[in-house]
Amino acid sequence: MEGQQDSSFAVPELPLCCMCDSLAAKVCGICHCNRYCSPECQKDDWKVHKLVCKPYSQKFSSHQRPGPNYYRGIYCNPDGDYPEFVWLAYEQMGRDNQYGINFGQLPGLRDLFSNGDFVQTDQISSNSVLHRRVQPPIIVHGCVGPIDQDSFRGKDNISLSKVNEELPTAFHGPLVFHKKQQDLDPMDFRHIVDSARVRFQKPWKETHHKGWALGDTVVGVRVNCIGDIKIFGYPMFEPVKCPVAVAESKELQAEAPVGEIVGIPLAFGSYPHSLAWADHFNRGWWMNSTYVALNPSHHDYMVGTVFVARRDKKPLPVGHLQALIEYCWDLPGQFVDLEGLEAGRKDFRSAVDTDFDKRNELLLRRASKEGFMEFWRKCLTEERYRLYRDIPAPWEF
Ligand SMILES: [Zn+2]
Ligand SMILES: [Zn+2]
Repeated sequence: MEGQQDSSFAVPELPLCCMCDSLAAKVCGICHCNRYCSPECQKDDWKVHKLVCKPYSQKFSSHQRPGPNYYRGIYCNPDGDYPEFVWLAYEQMGRDNQYGINFGQLPGLRDLFSNGDFVQTDQISSNSVLHRRVQPPIIVHGCVGPIDQDSFRGKDNISLSKVNEELPTAFHGPLVFHKKQQDLDPMDFRHIVDSARVRFQKPWKETHHKGWALGDTVVGVRVNCIGDIKIFGYPMFEPVKCPVAVAESKELQAEAPVGEIVGIPLAFGSYPHSLAWADHFNRGWWMNSTYVALNPSHHDYMVGTVFVARRDKKPLPVGHLQALIEYCWDLPGQFVDLEGLEAGRKDFRSAVDTDFDKRNELLLRRASKEGFMEFWRKCLTEERYRLYRDIPAPWEF
């Protein structure tokens, strides 16, 4: 459903895990369809795979096909308990006698079909969560637009609530998924779920943004975590308006004492995680490498996407935060050889690279307001910081 753009995605030649990029050595013991690299990935997939695995193996194996022109599809009945496999009948129809699906055979669809309402189509040609092509594409019939499009008719699609309780509000009316005269299998359900979540999330993120900009706000920066960058293609930094509460609260354990030292006191607010990677918690997508630069001791903190604001409620332009992060990346490297020499340790550099507490300690000991002022002045000579030449320096606000 996320469109046709991702032609760069590879079509896997070897069987890959349903949940990650590893080769799959195991297969689901019930449906013998979904493949996994590890018990962890199997467990993660089970949260949605369980909705289709047993029904598929009990009623939808190929020898249970009702006739030669029937193929397996997936039907999300707006009143259904969960998405379900269905046998779809293909018939020659229309003026050109092409094969098409007789949707009228599905009880919930008969009325819509006769009204001519059930005609929109879209397709899923890639899975942007798994970064993988879906070939041939999965065709979607039904009401398939972004959630803020008010032209939709039909009620919330309750069958999707078993996947995520938020999803029914974004998908209205019935949905039928199929491949042109080919069977869908449980792995296709994974693609459908990932695609529905991505489709839900993107406009939701934008509207959530707008909601937050009401009331008293401060100008801050949204720092996207690895999952949001990888799946949605969001930039590392985005200027945003944060509620004043973010600047005042210590909502997250996240903190960056280096900010006080250089004169940019920072506060962090958490952002709800994306549905798109709901089942992929263990893959490091909560990691926020930008935040880790500010506080290497917290390198294993799964903070996800965060808002960053100044605790003194002054505006925080993206460039100021970016420069501070670059300063934090650079600084330990500058002093590491000197310190290693002083300590008489040849392995000091590699120790600092792997011991994040040591790296943080070095950062906090060597960071200074004067050092950052000099770094900032050097940044301003670079073209990419050109925009910031006309605004006050971080400590001049
Ligand atoms: Zn895996
Ligand atoms: Zn299974």
